[in-house]
Amino acid sequence: MLKDGWFYERSFHETFSMGWKVKKVLHSEQSKYQKIDVLETDAVGKLLLLDGKTMVSNLDEFVYHEVMAHIPYAVSRKCEKVLIIGGGDGGVVREFAKHESIKQIDLVEIDERVIEVSKEFFPECTSALNDKRVNILAQDGFAFIKSKKNEYDIIIIDSTDPEDFASGLFTSEFYTDVYNALTDEGIMMNQTENPFLDEWDIKSIYTNMRSSFPFVQSFTAPMSIYPGVFWTFGFSSKKYMGTNINPEKRYEMQKIERDLKWYNLDWHRGAFLISNFHKKKIGL
Ligand code: SAM
Repeated sequence: MLKDGWFYERSFHETFSMGWKVKKVLHSEQSKYQKIDVLETDAVGKLLLLDGKTMVSNLDEFVYHEVMAHIPYAVSRKCEKVLIIGGGDGGVVREFAKHESIKQIDLVEIDERVIEVSKEFFPECTSALNDKRVNILAQDGFAFIKSKKNEYDIIIIDSTDPEDFASGLFTSEFYTDVYNALTDEGIMMNQTENPFLDEWDIKSIYTNMRSSFPFVQSFTAPMSIYPGVFWTFGFSSKKYMGTNINPEKRYEMQKIERDLKWYNLDWHRGAFLISNFHKKKIGL
């Protein structure tokens, strides 16, 4: 909601809001799927909104995108083929593209307008979308995954909140389809919301993940633009714990982390040490 030169994001149940002073509305449109806005703010630079919910900002996009990509990559043994569902801003693609061993990155984003608007206003996020390893498919990820079997080494669910066309991406049916689409040592990563506000019943999301994967863990990273800031992420795998970093990848990760803004191997090792509060929220 824009009011008196401020944008306020209201939480799902409208019991909580966060606000940013707006310098300028750079873009506004209604796509086939959602309202897309780009604001210029003092506090976080450019801010992408989808249906009035914050998605990406110049200030902290690197946190989300680096952890989503480098945590599963560092754990994976073989990683040649990656699928990203959602993620039309291109940030997760950019991070995976830093790894030369990856041969193919499929981006399945339902709303191609998100990609186009991101290219115009967030070129630092979309910089790898022209990489020859990247295939962009404007499709619903829930339907796309059904025909895929034993194909991807890593699958990232970089979705909006569990509403409307994104709600299927939080169900056990979908997680089972993701499990089947992964290779024998496959890993799934997803964003799993804020446990303090807990407007989406995080326990049920993790229960669904556990119904499909033998190894399910959670960690947090701060996302200053998301409601409540304290953000959780899920790591689900067929064979490996999130802390089981591939020894053969250590050298490559050490080289890459020098140029990263958030991720490093020390942070990765500690990220999965979670509090009693967090454990209880995810049903442990
Ligand atoms: N990092 C962000 C966050 O958690 O706030 C997510 C950003 S990304 C732009 C989310 C994308 O998921 C949106 O562009 C949306 O169009 C896409 N999306 C939602 N449901 C989808 C579905 N069923 N299939 C493919 N893409 C979907």
